[in-house]
Amino acid sequence: CGDSGSLAMSDEQVRQRMFAEIKPESIRARLKRMTNASHPAGTAANNAVAQYIKESFLADFGAENVKEAKYRVLLSRPNSTHPNSGLISNRDGTAFRELKNKEFPSDAFDGAYFAFAPQGEETSDRLIYANVATEEDFEYLVNNQSLPVNGSIILARYGGFRGDQVEISARYGARAVILFLDPSLVAPHGTNVSLVYPNGPWMPEFAISRGTIYRENGDPLSQSFVSSIGSKEPVYRTAVEDAELPKIPALPIGYGDARVLFELMDQKSIPSDWHVTDSTLPYVLGGVLPEGRRLTVTVTNYLEESEITNVIGTIPGCIEPDRYVIFGNHFDAWTMGGIDPNSGTAAMLELAHSMGILKSREGWCPRRTIIVGAWDAEEYGLIGSTEWVEENLQVLQDRTVAYINIDAAVRGHVAFSAMAMPLLTDVILSATKRVTDPSPMPDGQPLQTMYDAWKKHWRNDSTPRILNLGGGSDYGSFVNMIGVTSADLRYNAEVANPAYHTAYETFDYVEKFVDPTFLYHVAMTQVWGEIVRDLAESAVVPFSVGSFADRMNSSWHRARTELTTMFNLTMEIDLDLMTTAVALFGRNAKSLVEDISKFKTDGRLHNPLLVREMNDRLIKIERMFLEPSGLPGRPLDRHVLQAPSRINSYGSISFAGVMDSAAYTAEGYKENDPAKAAKWLKELKLHFIKVVQIVDRAARFLL
Ligand code: GLU
Ligand code: ZN
Ligand code: ZN
Repeated sequence: CGDSGSLAMSDEQVRQRMFAEIKPESIRARLKRMTNASHPAGTAANNAVAQYIKESFLADFGAENVKEAKYRVLLSRPNSTHPNSGLISNRDGTAFRELKNKEFPSDAFDGAYFAFAPQGEETSDRLIYANVATEEDFEYLVNNQSLPVNGSIILARYGGFRGDQVEISARYGARAVILFLDPSLVAPHGTNVSLVYPNGPWMPEFAISRGTIYRENGDPLSQSFVSSIGSKEPVYRTAVEDAELPKIPALPIGYGDARVLFELMDQKSIPSDWHVTDSTLPYVLGGVLPEGRRLTVTVTNYLEESEITNVIGTIPGCIEPDRYVIFGNHFDAWTMGGIDPNSGTAAMLELAHSMGILKSREGWCPRRTIIVGAWDAEEYGLIGSTEWVEENLQVLQDRTVAYINIDAAVRGHVAFSAMAMPLLTDVILSATKRVTDPSPMPDGQPLQTMYDAWKKHWRNDSTPRILNLGGGSDYGSFVNMIGVTSADLRYNAEVANPAYHTAYETFDYVEKFVDPTFLYHVAMTQVWGEIVRDLAESAVVPFSVGSFADRMNSSWHRARTELTTMFNLTMEIDLDLMTTAVALFGRNAKSLVEDISKFKTDGRLHNPLLVREMNDRLIKIERMFLEPSGLPGRPLDRHVLQAPSRINSYGSISFAGVMDSAAYTAEGYKENDPAKAAKWLKELKLHFIKVVQIVDRAARFLL
């Protein structure tokens, strides 16, 4: 990094001091403290976590630099007196079997539920398995199996974002949806008691993964505007009937109950490409339930307006105080939050603490302002962070250099992993070179850097691979609404966190099976700190303009190939226009990259106005790609180069507006629906030309 605002310490000294203050026992204690009770957003237990975070920030930054941002928002709760249920009844109406809705017979946890699933009771004599409930899966059932999906209850295994799975099922006429996790993901070695929690890291058959099925970000009753300002009562809210809430009842179950259902279903075999490797479930397609049985899905969730609280800490910058580097994580959890999110929250508090020490004891002061955001109600649909972005939209859009998110920081020991926008490529790669990876080495060999361990994981590719950012955590609104350059970091396990959103995601689970020494937590805190510090302290913002141009170029070429094979588009839009604009961007990016390297040696670095001019250009690059009216059909997703995938919002699509509207046009042709094809073709033409102009303008902005 270098060029710290405070002249007292060298960059190396700041790093060493910061690293010395990041302690495994302290992270452990913080995690323990935050995970002593189940703490979903809006509950007293979660408010206690918010207070703990506030106290911690107050001690680190002083009262003038800590703020609470409270909002009244719509949440969804399970009814504990009349819990959700799935009931199989016999021909004569007597109960045959009830599906489980709790991991433990205790009041310590709410019954497992899907937040925002509407109330309702749906009974059917038809239960159909729809694989992962994608459009292709339903097309297969309807066209190749002639199964009456419309009006049936759908059983599907988890895959992608559950909210998209439920929405697609509803579109195909499902009455209700039941989702489960395949045991190959959460109990790959069997269900012997010695292997499953609390004796081993794997999940017993009644572990249930909860979560939201709301597909938008932010408070459902204040989409695109902030629900309330400064804790005042909201003056305007969308009526609940007008909110875009999920439409059909839905329930999560454990794989034990999925087995029960498959054994009762019509034994029609699944197609070979639906087979799940190493699964022990007896998958069948189902249809009418044999022996006159029926299934009733009852959802009793209720909607409730609650107050949520973000806690925001600030370290004012000394040279460019109006430039912000933001790091953050949520603190609300579906149950105890051992991994998701409080492994990240503990790291965040420790990082804030180490920076607080640098500031108060060493007189350290970063060049730019560092802001730390502890977000509430992420689990319900990124609500706390989205309301905050909406409340501060112009200021953040104008002043933010980058947002660095961590959610479930430590999931296992397999490899560091980063999802990031390409401008952050070098910052991330170089930070991992300054951190020691805790993974043990064969005897006698010294520990490696996180970079080397990461590179090995990618089979020694020339550099480790950085993945695309989707929409699954609090970076969502920063990226998609206001085009802030963002990243999300974690340390991965061999399979995704098996305890994810279950009652077993406890402190004890982390201490026994995930990170007994807490050294992976330390490494994640260090790497996070180095990324933030580099962005906040380097005189010239360390953005990878070359990577940005390369990514745009490769994703456009991929998109172009897809567009030409999709249908005969070349008659309708001139793809060469985009190719030309992308090429111009590439050339100008190259000149800018050359200019930046000269800048560092030709004396301009000593002219604060020229430094400022260069940095303004760099931090505005990403913002050049915002289309204020949004992508076609999605007004709040404004970044034209990337957006969460519509079929799985955890994933990301490049040139999303172009690709979506082209796909819908093609669908219109295929379905012999000329009105649909014409509508989307119009959208496509307009959006395409907007994006061409955006790329062209951005190219000229680089120089
Ligand atoms: N991270 C949360 C989840 O996976 C929220 C994701 C979202 O609403 O996009 O359930
Ligand atoms: Zn999370
Ligand atoms: Zn979560």
